[in-house]
Amino acid sequence: MYDIKMVREDFPILSRKIYNRPLVYLDNGATTQKPRCVVEAMVDEYYNVNANVHRGVHFLSQQATDLHEQSRETVRAFINAQSAAEILFTRGTTESINLLAFCFGEAFVRTGDEIVVSTMEHHSNIVPWQMLCERKGARLRVIPMADDGTLLLEDYRALFNERTKIVCCTQVSNVLGTVNPVKEIIGEAHRRGVPVLIDGAQSTPHFPVDVQELDCDFFAFSGHKIYGPTGVGVLYGKEEWLEKLPPYQGGGEMIKNVSFERTTYNELPYKFEAGTPDYVATHALARALDYVSALGMEQIYGHEQELTRYAMERLREVEGMRIFGPEEPHDAVVSFLVEGIHHLDMGTLLDRLGIAVRTGHHCAEPLMRRLGIEGTVRASFGLYNTKEEVDALVEGVKRVVKMF
Ligand code: PMP
Repeated sequence: MYDIKMVREDFPILSRKIYNRPLVYLDNGATTQKPRCVVEAMVDEYYNVNANVHRGVHFLSQQATDLHEQSRETVRAFINAQSAAEILFTRGTTESINLLAFCFGEAFVRTGDEIVVSTMEHHSNIVPWQMLCERKGARLRVIPMADDGTLLLEDYRALFNERTKIVCCTQVSNVLGTVNPVKEIIGEAHRRGVPVLIDGAQSTPHFPVDVQELDCDFFAFSGHKIYGPTGVGVLYGKEEWLEKLPPYQGGGEMIKNVSFERTTYNELPYKFEAGTPDYVATHALARALDYVSALGMEQIYGHEQELTRYAMERLREVEGMRIFGPEEPHDAVVSFLVEGIHHLDMGTLLDRLGIAVRTGHHCAEPLMRRLGIEGTVRASFGLYNTKEEVDALVEGVKRVVKMF
């Protein structure tokens, strides 16, 4: 187990006071705070290295390019991709999925085809596919969910037919904390020759991910949810698939040769990376991945699981408490409602106690509809949260309940 006190010292923001109370930051599912090493890497690069990557012969450009490409290698190793050519830098999970929906759709989706998503997807893993369906005259099929927040795999199997083109599923629900059996989901699709995209936005920050072991065809995640900077994310794709897809955006960097008659495209991964990348952010993302790797993803998982169990157990002390999602496996997200108290009121009053939680539909309106609710209060944990902070949350909730 790592030393939580020392860990917290790496995150200056955690010592802030909010309304004169110590900040209790439990909105890590939305974004995580940044350790010094990440911010310092950005400052250092802007102060000492900054130059555009790939195109320059001069020293700084080469140094910036090295940092950028070493970062790609760090990402590769972190998710155990086979080759760095399979790591595309994007602006985040949302852009990763939009890129894939566009490129995959252009190459493989025709009128009457079907795309499978699950009930518990974030809007960013629904809407890009819906837009593709509109463009191509295809349709979305949805994996249904049981009341306990787990996907119904029998019904999933029944969705497949010869028109099924791709399955898109989140590894961890950002609302329910459900950890989906993605290996099984991928296996079922592969038996029918269908590729799978896994949304790893809520899994990569919390436990080790190995894309080769999962055997997913595509995998997306965001830097800012794993202690890295905003504005950078990753789309992993198996080389054999990426080779078959057309480019996303046109511009510099993604080309080999351009003439007014004809343009040839660059090799992987550059074919998908038009324009100047956020090379400062990619470098800082690599420092964030180094940071969590040094702590150990297994250790982080153990720590956060302990917090999650403790939070679910203690929140149940509150009368009228309803906690969403399955008992097991349940990742570091606890969504709840207290009978008779609107989620927005709960969130606003907790904020007055210095406790940052998220309220609302969490960009998962179809899931809310399935649950028959408008929204929840969501506490989501990160590697720096403590049991004392869970206690503060529970005491805060109890106080709000008393007020009502
Ligand atoms: N998928 C899931 C499961 C998420 O939780 C989020 C962020 N809340 C996203 C996708 C979108 O990530 P981003 O906003 O970083 O693109």
